[in-house]
Amino acid sequence: MKKPLQIPVNSIPDLGKDVSLDLGDDWFRHWREEDQGLEFNAGDLTGEVRLEKHGKDILVRGHLEGHLDLACSRCLDYYAAPYTSDFDLLLLPGHEPLAQEEELTAADLDVDFVAGEDVDLQGIIREQIILTVPLKPLCHEDCRGLCPGCGANLNREACTCKA
Ligand SMILES: [Zn+2]
Ligand SMILES: [Zn+2]
Repeated sequence: MKKPLQIPVNSIPDLGKDVSLDLGDDWFRHWREEDQGLEFNAGDLTGEVRLEKHGKDILVRGHLEGHLDLACSRCLDYYAAPYTSDFDLLLLPGHEPLAQEEELTAADLDVDFVAGEDVDLQGIIREQIILTVPLKPLCHEDCRGLCPGCGANLNREACTCKA
């Protein structure tokens, strides 16, 4: 079965192609199944991606918004963390990613390469989310975390260490 969100390069018209995204439970579940080390549980994102041909290169501009279910770094509870991100990526056919010093159309573009006939939007979006997911998410700014002694979740339980 073909992976979702594979966009054939030859389906991108000269004027560009817009792809709207609606990434819900199924999308995240498949990701979890393929990547056991994933640090978040689920999510719900919408957004859009614009693909433009520039000669043989393909410019990918995307926007994602919604939430990810992240484990709080203090109390370890999952919570719905608001998430937005924007990305610009330049895909070069058959090339290794260009070194930073080499001339680019825009200095702040990330460069990737097209491996085949399709633009792997699924892979691009997964990578973007992994790169931008917060490293130390907090369910609340004043989350009280777990007691290091008894392990009680101090947001909702009393510490029993004194007993
Ligand atoms: Zn917390
Ligand atoms: Zn305790």
